[in-house]
Amino acid sequence: MNPSSRLSAPVSRRDALRAFGASAVTLAASMLALRAAAADDKPAASETPKEKEKPAGPAAPPPPSGPFTLPELGFAYDALEPAIDTATMQIHHKRHHQAYIINANIALKDHPKLHAWSAEQMLRDIKKVPGTISTAVRNNVGGHANHTLFWDILTPGGPKEPSGALKSAIDRDLSNFGSMVVKLGEACMTRFGSGWAWLCVYNKKLSIYSTANQDSPLMDGATPILGIDVWEHAYYLKYQNKRAEYVKAVTGLINWDKVAERYKQALG
Ligand code: MN
Repeated sequence: MNPSSRLSAPVSRRDALRAFGASAVTLAASMLALRAAAADDKPAASETPKEKEKPAGPAAPPPPSGPFTLPELGFAYDALEPAIDTATMQIHHKRHHQAYIINANIALKDHPKLHAWSAEQMLRDIKKVPGTISTAVRNNVGGHANHTLFWDILTPGGPKEPSGALKSAIDRDLSNFGSMVVKLGEACMTRFGSGWAWLCVYNKKLSIYSTANQDSPLMDGATPILGIDVWEHAYYLKYQNKRAEYVKAVTGLINWDKVAERYKQALG
């Protein structure tokens, strides 16, 4: 082996990682890239001098393009300023949410029958998902479904309080709107580490709920109609460790019309 081919190994690994974007890189995607880079570094036994002169190919095969794709936001990245800053929205949507989708699609690559299922169905029926991929589905399809709901129930405008059937149900099941907001805030604040706080429909009634990581209330038979992401990636750039300030700000962005729609759908 000549010195130049020896030197090329770390460079091609580094390039493979850079191609995925250093901070957005996901474990599965980087493993694919590293594997491809490592393969590039080792001359095949049958390699001819002519093949050695070929320019380096792409670092890794592209990740599967489905079954899930990144949904577009219903608002601009800067629309939720100042409560949620533009950089946080961009990173959260284009990197974090996208990474869950890439990893979900990788997990589902060899399970075409599941491609017809919705994300919600996979979570509701997580016990029917093959054991070899159930953790990856729980984390990544969960991450996809949770973020899709989160983006949907945020808005820069909209009514500041629920009305109609949703308001009546909140009064019936959670005392009143103010009390519901307090309970939702407590669920956000008492979630240790990463997770979510939810307003759910369970047995036709509303309840406040919290899950760790990217677990979904769907896994427990409850239907989330409102979710607040309390992972640090949701707020750390602007709020650092002040989760309570973020929770207060994001609660003011809730699109109660969308939550009411989801409440109606959840009742069936
Ligand atoms: Mn998130």
